Amino acid sequence: MKSNPDIKKVVRQHAEMAEFFSGGLTVKTFTAENAETAEKKGKTNSANSAASAVRTTRPPCSLENIKELEDIAGETRKCRKCELGSLRKNAVPGEGNTSARIMFVGEAPGADEDAQARPFVGRAGQLLDKIIAACGLKRQDVWIGNILKCRPPDNRDPRPEEIIACIPYLQRQIELINPEIIVALGAHAAKTLLDTPKAIGQLRGIFHEYQPGIGHKPIKLMPTFHPAYLLRNYSDDNRRKVWEDMKKVLAELGLPVPQKTGK
Ligand code: URA
Repeated sequence: MKSNPDIKKVVRQHAEMAEFFSGGLTVKTFTAENAETAEKKGKTNSANSAASAVRTTRPPCSLENIKELEDIAGETRKCRKCELGSLRKNAVPGEGNTSARIMFVGEAPGADEDAQARPFVGRAGQLLDKIIAACGLKRQDVWIGNILKCRPPDNRDPRPEEIIACIPYLQRQIELINPEIIVALGAHAAKTLLDTPKAIGQLRGIFHEYQPGIGHKPIKLMPTFHPAYLLRNYSDDNRRKVWEDMKKVLAELGLPVPQKTGK
């Protein structure tokens, strides 16, 4: 019987991604010793003290903010501001730690996310989990959301009118969670949040500023390749670029970078 080459490719990619983003890395736990190293390597100003060097989350989000985040999630479940509202199985409002230091923002839910009402739970999500683990973090440490809360049919690109209708939800979620860094996954997230037509290849790898609104401090934003792009354009070079981007995020937060063991 003729074997299906796509399945083989998917299995191989999966194994190699696992090796690159987690298997070959020793994810150091945050001990006093590596806290000191992180502090020496990282920023040592008052906002990034020894204590914050090992903090994976911010001080707890207020109860008012948590309540408003729940209200927003409820609104997205009833939302009919664009046609996607009538096509979805479930809205995907976003999830994670409301005191997160890092917020990941993707494009829009896919079929798996639409079915489970959770962001990044399909193949791209499994890769995102590996990237988060390679950073020495857990999914529960970060917050994960999307530009659109509902799945575009056949995973087509978000349309401008859909982004315009949906983006106020994410803008308010960002204000309420107030992460220290936003990682924009892919072109749609980066271009939308930075309001720029520039390509992801030009934007990634350097910190930009996201302006949450008048009176709010800008938030550092690191664009990087979308995990789904990485799966489609699978090369050492692209994986390395994402890892370089994430190392910059860790350094900015004064968090230790897990070392490769060479296993
Ligand atoms: N791709 C995205 O951009 N978001 C998800 O939640 C899943 C896949």
